[in-house]
Amino acid sequence: MEHTAQIINGKAVSDRLLSEIAAKTAAMATPPGLAVVLVGDNPASHIYVANKVKACAKAGIRSLEHRLPADATESEIKGLIETLNADPEIDGILLQLPLPDGLDSDMLIQTISPDKDVDGLTIPNIGKLVAGLDGLVPCTPQGSMMLIKEVCPDLTGKHAVVIGRSLLFGKPMAQLLLAANATVTTAHSKTADLPEICKQADILVAAVGRPKMVKADWVKKGAIVIDVGINRLDTGKLCGDVDFDEVSSIASAISPVPGGVGPMTIACLMANTLKAHQ
Ligand code: NAP
Repeated sequence: MEHTAQIINGKAVSDRLLSEIAAKTAAMATPPGLAVVLVGDNPASHIYVANKVKACAKAGIRSLEHRLPADATESEIKGLIETLNADPEIDGILLQLPLPDGLDSDMLIQTISPDKDVDGLTIPNIGKLVAGLDGLVPCTPQGSMMLIKEVCPDLTGKHAVVIGRSLLFGKPMAQLLLAANATVTTAHSKTADLPEICKQADILVAAVGRPKMVKADWVKKGAIVIDVGINRLDTGKLCGDVDFDEVSSIASAISPVPGGVGPMTIACLMANTLKAHQ
């Protein structure tokens, strides 16, 4: 009989996490507050923000949207972030990326108070993650780690390969895997023999942004495969960085796109907002 991998259901895991958060916020006199700053009219960003607002409702978190026009200046955005930093009603601040061209995202992210940095992208939070200290951890790697733990609670001695080295995902993912006692290889666009390296992975995490790049012959039999990529095909359909149909016949477990890492990212944003409140 042909082998088919276990599908790691990110929707179910994220719903469970949201319910746990809702149970905690329901018992609070003042629920946590998340401010979402949306600049310009990138359609994808509007969809992401709408989904985040929906998740806030499920988790019992107050959401406050701040929309600025596409021609907002850096100093206007900085001024808004500073006001939110000082507002005791706001526990978390999310600056929706990407910002319109010409705005310095890195500088603006670093303006967010580290205590309210629910995306975990400020230098103090990155430093804490690397130092093994408690801080706010970026949502997508945090959610990916939860999916891995669903199927492999103990990563000790496992070889994890992460494709991608962005500050948003690849680097923090590698740190989380390292902290969980995996042996970690980070691959990127300059890596030689990428398929060969991927084939050594017990846990393979792909975060590249190239549709169906990871093929069946890149994957070790029985590996756990986490697909972080979100790519829109010409047909309008979403697909990941992993060739799901091929790789499902080799892996022991695989996260689908959509319905895998995506919902976990939003649920972890809620978890970070609760943590920032506490
Ligand atoms: P990014 O900043 O563009 O980073 C992409 C990484 O992939 C870079 O490190 C790049 O290497 C590497 N890469 C590019 N081409 C490659 C190749 N041919 N072989 C090996 N490595 C290659 O993207 P990101 O923000 O990390 O996001 C990656 C993907 O995850 C995107 O599809 C994004 O939409 C998705 N994503 C999903 C979620 C979610 O919630 N599910 C959240 C965030 C991101 P270099 O460093 O050498 O350029």
